[in-house]
Amino acid sequence: MRKKIVAGNWKMNCLQEEGQKLTSEIVNMIKDEPTADVTVVLNPPYVHLHAVNKLIAGVDRLHLGGQNCSDQASGAYTGEISASMLASFGASYVIIGHSERRQYFNETNELLTAKTRQALDNGLQPIFCCGEPLEIREAGTHEAYVKEQLTASLFNFSEEELKKIVIAYEPIWAIGTGKTASSDQAQDMHAAIRKHLAGKYGDAAANEISILYGGSCKPDNAKEIFSKTDVDGGLIGGASLKSRDFVAIIQSF
Ligand code: 13P
Repeated sequence: MRKKIVAGNWKMNCLQEEGQKLTSEIVNMIKDEPTADVTVVLNPPYVHLHAVNKLIAGVDRLHLGGQNCSDQASGAYTGEISASMLASFGASYVIIGHSERRQYFNETNELLTAKTRQALDNGLQPIFCCGEPLEIREAGTHEAYVKEQLTASLFNFSEEELKKIVIAYEPIWAIGTGKTASSDQAQDMHAAIRKHLAGKYGDAAANEISILYGGSCKPDNAKEIFSKTDVDGGLIGGASLKSRDFVAIIQSF
């Protein structure tokens, strides 16, 4: 059985009190929940990690993640945060290669290999993002584009390492736009990703890897998207900032 995961990516949102209120509301809503087989990950901005970690303590299926980490281990890199620091603040996941970081911070496939290496070496599970821009989708070359992102960044890792990675497929044209991929479009891409992983690492390994969908996932479309065979959960942006919506998405499984 693959792990079902719903991860909230707060992006650059929430002042101190807002982050604590949001976390407390989520904790209160799900601590006695029956859908306990869904792993929930909160990925707040770094400054919230300590407080969020304290608030989620005691709820086993709630986990903490970073939104990014440095490709370096430690040292004179002003403004950077290392994977080992995230781990020491209680994180067990880290988002790597979000399209916003690829686009606005020029993160390359090679850099993302180094960040994934740092994450794995420090016991964090990378949530590795991939996904195509609109023009690639319209040209019909989206599968090849996403496969190349995965090959370039991940295919030098061992099978044991790969099995610790969570993949998030986030079509860029669906992020924050209110335009979701249809459940069939998501399924087609997730199946293609799994097949691609199987081609390199074998069916058994590929079948263990959770592949999340991200891009305007909301309470009213999550159930349909999560019903697809190769969709193992979601990476949620905007809707993760509203406790009711986020919990409704978790309950969509
Ligand atoms: P939205 O859910 O706001 O479209 O964002 C998706 C995303 O980028 C999650 O990482």
